[in-house]
Amino acid sequence: MAGMHTNGNAAEVLPETLGTNHLHPVPKLLSDEEKIAVIRLHFGKIMETLGLDMTDDSLRDTPQRVAKMFVKEIFRGLDERHFPNITTFGNNYGYSGMLVEKDITLHSFCEHHFLPIIGKAHVAYFPGKKVVGLSKLNRLVGYYAKRPQVQERLTMQIAQGMQEVLGTEDVAVYIEADHQCVAARGVEDTKSSTITNYFGGRFQEPEERQAFLAALK
Ligand SMILES: [Zn+2]
Repeated sequence: MAGMHTNGNAAEVLPETLGTNHLHPVPKLLSDEEKIAVIRLHFGKIMETLGLDMTDDSLRDTPQRVAKMFVKEIFRGLDERHFPNITTFGNNYGYSGMLVEKDITLHSFCEHHFLPIIGKAHVAYFPGKKVVGLSKLNRLVGYYAKRPQVQERLTMQIAQGMQEVLGTEDVAVYIEADHQCVAARGVEDTKSSTITNYFGGRFQEPEERQAFLAALK
């Protein structure tokens, strides 16, 4: 816990260290353990405020469990140190066709309600000089999904991440997802889903775009 105030000052640490720019999060000043300590404290307060009996066996460890889950799992993509290790290879075989990786399972969380966004991501690119192992595209999607998100930004971040890693503009992303904040509360519509997409470079040409969309059928 070195370097952290624990006697009520913890909340003051949060705004500047967590930052507000989702494209370039800057939560670096706290270690994972320090973040867990702060979140545990505050989540316990939320539960108490709701009237839960924090001496109950079943609830006692929930603040710690939730804090650890936030930092180590579902929001680990807020820490750039967790960016996946993506090795690219030279496109030595000169493959010039479209590569589509479809049905990538997507688990994210809506930043407005902290409820799950569950769906599928489909991504594609035209290799230039570089190609990547296919599972790395899944990892890239997973990295950006593990943040509080809106689907529009998630789509753009995945596209930009792919463009950076692959060194090409020719990238497409298509996401179809259900938002639990729509299904479980508010309008309580369990049937609706949300589609977002990005078409960069060659995918702006109607032919290539159609070929990509056809591959998703
Ligand atoms: Zn929401």
